[in-house]
Amino acid sequence: MEQKQVRVRFAPSPTGPLHIGGVRTALYNYLFARQHGGKLIFRIEDTDSQRFVPGAEEYIREAFDWLGIRFDEGVGFGGDKGPYRQSERRDIYKKYVQQLLDEGKAYYAFDTPEELDAKRKEVENFQYDAHTRHLMRNSLTLPADEVKGLIDSGAQYVVRFKIEPGEDVHVDDIIRGDVKINSSVLDDKVLYKSADQLPTYHLANIVDDHLMEITHVIRGEEWLPSSPLHVLLYRAFGWADTMPRFAHLPLLLKPDGKGKLSKRDGDRLGFPVFPLEWHGASGEVCAGYREDGYLPEAVINFLALLGWNPGTDQELLTMDELVNLFDLAKCSKAGAKFDYVKGLWFNREYLQRSDNARLAPAFDAILRENGIQAPMERVEAVVGMMKMKKINFVKDLWPLCDFFFTAPQVYDREDKFVRKNWKEGTADDMRELAGLLAGLTDFSVESQRAVIDAWAESTGKKPWNAWRVALVGAGKGPDMYELAAFLGKEETLARMERAIAALQ
Ligand code: GLU
Repeated sequence: MEQKQVRVRFAPSPTGPLHIGGVRTALYNYLFARQHGGKLIFRIEDTDSQRFVPGAEEYIREAFDWLGIRFDEGVGFGGDKGPYRQSERRDIYKKYVQQLLDEGKAYYAFDTPEELDAKRKEVENFQYDAHTRHLMRNSLTLPADEVKGLIDSGAQYVVRFKIEPGEDVHVDDIIRGDVKINSSVLDDKVLYKSADQLPTYHLANIVDDHLMEITHVIRGEEWLPSSPLHVLLYRAFGWADTMPRFAHLPLLLKPDGKGKLSKRDGDRLGFPVFPLEWHGASGEVCAGYREDGYLPEAVINFLALLGWNPGTDQELLTMDELVNLFDLAKCSKAGAKFDYVKGLWFNREYLQRSDNARLAPAFDAILRENGIQAPMERVEAVVGMMKMKKINFVKDLWPLCDFFFTAPQVYDREDKFVRKNWKEGTADDMRELAGLLAGLTDFSVESQRAVIDAWAESTGKKPWNAWRVALVGAGKGPDMYELAAFLGKEETLARMERAIAALQ
């Protein structure tokens, strides 16, 4: 039998910035699609006009651009199963709602919000279902001509799905196995609202997954409770044969306790829960991974391992390796703790592996903020010397690197490192060292090393820390030869002279 081409979708609702859990969902869909030579579709589920937030769709696209998650079809990507924005598919949904009504699988309900509220007060744990629908105002209880009259006169109504009670509904989940729920616990879900002439999430989601020939629905655990309803809808439409397979991904949990990861955890512990910075309409700003200085491949690698792992010790994985190794069936059922400290570690690792030229512009911007303008190749050289120090972000370089660009202004005798390394007789050693350096015509690392190492060896002197005091003013920085070569002969000797004078 010919295997159907894998088609998966990421279907966000544009209600604000995309949460990092949504990014993980999109990533798993992307990995799964690529590993099966399939297609990833980008669908916008914007049927809830009340919750629509301008700019959210653009934000989501920009986030995936940055992260390198590419779509094959969908809003902004073309494809022959569009439109891919649900608000542009009203007529399609109407037709399918009508099908269910015509076949008696759905019904009109005219109950006003006030009537529903009154019922909820009257009946404990009221649920609109097989046991209560006969008490309500709907096309199952009202005479046909009255129903027609109400609709013709423009009365507001909803269409509800008529769920038959007492049946075990099975959801075959790739991660969770057979999930069983009895249909009696489900309510007659609203599928359509005349007020905005739009379907609800459930109807639109099922119709679109069907028409877009989705083969696998990979989404967050929060959608698991909706899935029995979705199974029943597929069946009601007669699409059970082509129903996609489900995979409900584990929740992302707080780093330090029980419960779902929230924005508050990020604010409290100081890490972003959004891929990009978000500027809300009321002026609030939410931190983003990009603006905080994370590299996209670090974020991808970190997220990929929240809920799945390759079963080996290997933690650093490129996108291509992830595509090869990822296994949907091996995702965990249990929630994944959002270990943001691990996220910092990933960033550090990727920073150290990045080309200096890639990191230099970000460092250059920080230098400029501090009033320093340097040629880009010098900025790159400093990044190269210092990125292996334990820094998590490019911005951490500045306090470690100021001396490359500005000579120490004062030499603090009370500084521990200075006190320990500048003693009686140090000034004489430094004069001698300066004399040797002055004699070099080639000031490269190798040439310095040959002469100074030999001198140190024959005299038994260890000039390195005192030399560091002179050039840096403190106990930090790279290898001394590298630093001196970077500064050049003139600047190196000038700093040594000033230190000798100041510390006499
Ligand atoms: N629109 C839903 C969301 O915002 C999609 C859920 C699904 O994938 O079915 O996540």
